Formats: sequence, C-alpha cells, structure tokens
Amino acid sequence: MTGPATGEIYRVDWLPGTDVLHGTCHCGAEHTAEDPVAMWEWMLAHPEGHQPRGNGS
Ligand SMILES: [Zn+2]
Repeated sequence: MTGPATGEIYRVDWLPGTDVLHGTCHCGAEHTAEDPVAMWEWMLAHPEGHQPRGNGS
C-alpha cells in the first residue's frame, strides 16, 4: 500500500467482537459509533463535534 502524506486522513477500525466502529480523524479527534453512516457523517462534519486531544482544557 502507498499512502499520501498530505491531505485529510481518516482511519476507521472495527472493534473486534463488537458492532462498534472506532474512527480517528486527521485532526486527532476520536469517535465511536455503531452505524457506519453515522461515523462518516461525523467525519464529514469536521470540525463540528471534534475535540482533538492535546488542545488544552
Ligand atoms: Zn476532525
């Protein structure tokens, strides 16, 4: 596999043994959802609802 180093990068993993998707946005925010559609909507809604780690507070 080749991976471009630029652009928006999302990662979605399916947690083994569950129906839960765990997604990580390029901004570092993480989100879990059982519905793949909901997961993509969360990502496409960036930055709404995203709370990247290490941003203080
Ligand atoms: Zn994000």
